[in-house]
Amino acid sequence: MPAPTIRHCKRCGSAVAYRVPDDGDTRERAVCTVCQTIHYENPLNVVGTVPVWQDQVLLCKRNIEPRWGKWTLPAGFMELGETTSQGAARETIEESGAQFEMGALFTVMSVPRVGQVHLYYRAQLTSPRFAPGHETLEARLFHEEEIPWEELAFRTVRETLMRYFEDRRRGHFDTHAFDIE
Ligand code: ZN
Repeated sequence: MPAPTIRHCKRCGSAVAYRVPDDGDTRERAVCTVCQTIHYENPLNVVGTVPVWQDQVLLCKRNIEPRWGKWTLPAGFMELGETTSQGAARETIEESGAQFEMGALFTVMSVPRVGQVHLYYRAQLTSPRFAPGHETLEARLFHEEEIPWEELAFRTVRETLMRYFEDRRRGHFDTHAFDIE
């Protein structure tokens, strides 16, 4: 499990203590030592795309930590008020400035070690020109044999790309749900 991260009550600002609440709960929660507010912590969604132009895939070189300088598929944390697909499209625009049409859900990966669920959609680029935002050093297209496997930022990116090329070889794209321990 990820390390506890809450120190102060979001309601009154007092210190919290991690303990099992008295309401029949079975997990330790951040409970305010003054107003007793219970702060629940749940997994976050990371949403992104596999953007494709002809037989090439778009990758972005990260200009932010963690993994500065490593290559990634465009992805980021889902925002309140948007759907997973909208979030994936927004992140793709922010990080690459690409023009594209969203496709089907491709991978769903639970990453319990960091308390995250990552979802990637396929996306069809409608132009090979990009305008990366400040979070990206460079956005470019890669043929399969050019993919910098040793320079990818995250295992979820590697697993998604591996499945993308496997599915493309057999000529049929599925939705892949699996866990990353
Ligand atoms: Zn409080």
